[in-house]
Amino acid sequence: MSLEKAAQAIRNAESLALACHVGPDGDALGSMLGLGLAARNSGKPVVASFGSPHVLPPSLSFLPTDLIVPPQEFPAEPDVMVVLDAGSADRIGDLAPAAKSAATVVVLDHHVTNEGFGDVSVVEPTAAATGELVFRLLGILDWEISPEIAQCLHTALVTDTGRFQYSNTTPETLRIAAELVARGADPAVIGRHVYEEAPFGYLKAAAVAMERASLDPRLEVVSTFITAQDLDDLGITWGDTENLIDLLRMAEEADTAILAKAHSDGTTKVSMRSRGLTDVGALAAKQGGGGHRLAAGFTTSEQPETVIATLVSSLGDHR
Ligand code: AMP
Ligand code: MN
Ligand code: MN
Repeated sequence: MSLEKAAQAIRNAESLALACHVGPDGDALGSMLGLGLAARNSGKPVVASFGSPHVLPPSLSFLPTDLIVPPQEFPAEPDVMVVLDAGSADRIGDLAPAAKSAATVVVLDHHVTNEGFGDVSVVEPTAAATGELVFRLLGILDWEISPEIAQCLHTALVTDTGRFQYSNTTPETLRIAAELVARGADPAVIGRHVYEEAPFGYLKAAAVAMERASLDPRLEVVSTFITAQDLDDLGITWGDTENLIDLLRMAEEADTAILAKAHSDGTTKVSMRSRGLTDVGALAAKQGGGGHRLAAGFTTSEQPETVIATLVSSLGDHR
């Protein structure tokens, strides 16, 4: 569906309740907060949240997050609920019942695995980030992009494009980025918080994960895992490990990188990346997750080493 339809629903809303995917990244938070702040500045009552575990990644806490309420304070029956950067209804975790009870659900997303949910579903796989869709939406709504909003949306673009270096980066992405910087986004602040600093414990965690990494040169896959216990020992949180997959995927012998994160609740969250040979989105979808062709993930109750073995043996089906 078109962004105009989404704009119409949002314009007519008495109030807005915004949600993004669980374990939010820079695009999830940046696109949600960018829209939320613009709504607030335009006099529209608005709240924003994300599902449990309701913990902001430390590297993104520089964003203006005061719109965000805990999931318990999210309206049970929202008027218009806008779901951002979530490829399926279950990706909003414990906010899913609110979406079921909402009068209207608007979805803004760019995941190729998104099969369409909600009443107004805008899914554009060619958009590098959901933040691009929000930028265009604000133009249609004629809602002003303040420096604060520009910072949120630029964070969305920077993080989902890996600093404008992934293949999803288009001329349009860069045009929007230029506009956002012109409107006051500060690339240096974003760069420092997201890429240029981390707790010392993160360096140690990276060392632990890389020590454990294994490379299969024949299958061109590199894989490793990290556990909640490792993080506890080093005094860091899952939010500190966002960039770990980017270190692992550097192995030039590998097309595919697999990082399994064993959480304390017994679930394992798997991140996958490919240089082009493997459709990791399809592979993740088969495991109940999703994502993009070259970056995807899923959650399982299997142990990290078991799930890695399963994935490695099924790689051939996705090339
Ligand atoms: P990540 O590895 O967490 O950075 O995620 C890479 C891509 O896969 C992102 O676009 C995520 O939205 C998507 N993704 C990660 N985990 C899941 C999941 N459990 N279900 C659906 N999509 C996911
Ligand atoms: Mn995301
Ligand atoms: Mn995204």
